[in-house]
Formats: sequence, structure tokens, C-alpha cells
Amino acid sequence: MQILSFECREEEKDFLLADLAEAGTLGVQETARHGGGWLLEAWFEDCAEGLAEKFGNRGATLSRPEAVDWVAVSRAQWRALEAGDRLFLAPSWDRAPTPEGRLRLVMPPGTAAGTGLHAATRLALAGLERTLRPGESVLDLGTGSGILAAAARLLGAGRVVACDIDPDAAAAAHQYLEGRAQVFAGSCRSLRDASLDVVAANLSPQAFSVVAGEIARLLKPGGRAVLSGSPEAKRAMVSRVAGGAGLVETGAIEIGRASCRERV
Ligand code: SAH
Repeated sequence: MQILSFECREEEKDFLLADLAEAGTLGVQETARHGGGWLLEAWFEDCAEGLAEKFGNRGATLSRPEAVDWVAVSRAQWRALEAGDRLFLAPSWDRAPTPEGRLRLVMPPGTAAGTGLHAATRLALAGLERTLRPGESVLDLGTGSGILAAAARLLGAGRVVACDIDPDAAAAAHQYLEGRAQVFAGSCRSLRDASLDVVAANLSPQAFSVVAGEIARLLKPGGRAVLSGSPEAKRAMVSRVAGGAGLVETGAIEIGRASCRERV
């Protein structure tokens, strides 16, 4: 791969782009120059011949792109972090030791929503930590990557069910969870009334409004829902919908996006 670079005036640019296309460029990056004009950087396969001569009268130069380690670049976006009081989320390649007293949860690979890097997911994790008692049954409603289901299992849940209306997310969760939960594509309508101790739902306010009644239906008396995913501005609306479905607020986690509600 090589890059042909040169500057040109505004009125020349379109003609030069056409010339570069004719010369077989793979793509051109156009950067506006302070004070007018453009820097054109055209990418070519290694075998492109006579290029510098063709555009030589403009002072064109040929260079090779710097080798970029894209694996390292992508990994740098991920970092191990603490969630709640008991969890430690870490990418699979991270060697950072697990802080004392915490449980290590390997982050899902990122093909579906829910790596743990998003605040709403971490609040849902903290909510689960707070409310889940050992052996209880859990539904991860809108599982995305499967992260809440995995955390529920790690925190000592008994039966764990996870579902997502997006079949690709359900497939990703199934792969990540490796048997730690029963995963299915779809919403929760097929689950039995009063069959769950805890429902964890990190959903947008709109998505929550659709399933609030279902969440209340699924919870056993005394069951608890961990609701996350609503921006502060929508919190009153979500509280109203939850209250209308019979879910009574029992606590909120400080940033105010996740809250735990109990069925009455
Ligand atoms: N649980 C993960 C992902 C949350 S993103 C986490 O906490 O990070 C929300 C997910 O909910 C998306 O994957 C979306 O497809 C799913 N979803 C939205 N409405 C749903 C519904 N009615 N039933 C099941 N899944 C739903």
C-alpha cells in the first residue's frame, strides 16, 4: 500500500479526484487547508506505477502508511473495571489481578449490547448485587450480550433465564453464557406467571413501557425488578409506568439511572 499526497486549489479538486480515480486509487482522504486549498491523500496498491511522475508537477510525494496494530488499538478501548461492591469486569485478555473480595466476570466480546463499559449496565449489575439472594431465580430481560445473566450466576442465582427480541443478540448471549443460563430469542410472554424472584431489565424507557406489565406478571409476590437504562430526564415517566404496573420503588442507585422495585 502507498499513499500519494499533494495539495491543490478548490477549483482543481474535482478534476484531480477524477484523475486519481482513473489512476486506480482505492480511496482519497480530502483535508481542507487553513487559508484555503486541499490536501489530497490517495491510497494505491503497491503495484501502482508512474504515479509520482503523473502528479509530479504538483510536488506529489509517495509514502507508505504506518503499520497499525489494530488488535492493540481495539483492545486499548477496553479496560478492566470494578462494578458495584462485589464484581470486577475484565476483558478475556486482561491479566490484571482480581481485587480482593471481588468476583471476576469476563466481559462479553462486544458483538451485542452490554460489554460492561456502559454506565447503565454497571448500574444494573450493582442493582443485581444488592437485591439478589443465593439460589433465587432470575430473568435477564433484554440480555444483549448476556452480561447480566452471567453476573446473576456468579452472584449465586439458581435458575437463570435470558431473552432478547434481537435474534443476533440472543445467539451472542448463548455463545458467551455457555450454559450458564437458558437463552431464547423473543420477549418474556411465554414465561409463567409469578415464576421469578428477580427480573433484571436494562431497557430504554420506551422498551420498558411495553414490558412493565409483563415484568409485574412474572414476579413472585415479594419478587424484585432491577430497572436500569432510563436517562434522568425520563425517570419520572418510568416511575409512573412502573407504579401503574404494580411495581413499588424500594431504592435507587446514586446516579439515578438504575433503581430496584419490589412487587406488591
Ligand atoms: N442487558 C444488557 C443489554 C441491554 S441493551 C446490558 O445490561 O448491558 C437492551 C436490549 O434489550 C437490546 O439487546 C434489545 O434488543 C433488548 N430488548 C428491547 N426490548 C425488548 C423486549 N421487549 N424483550 C426482550 N428484549 C428486548
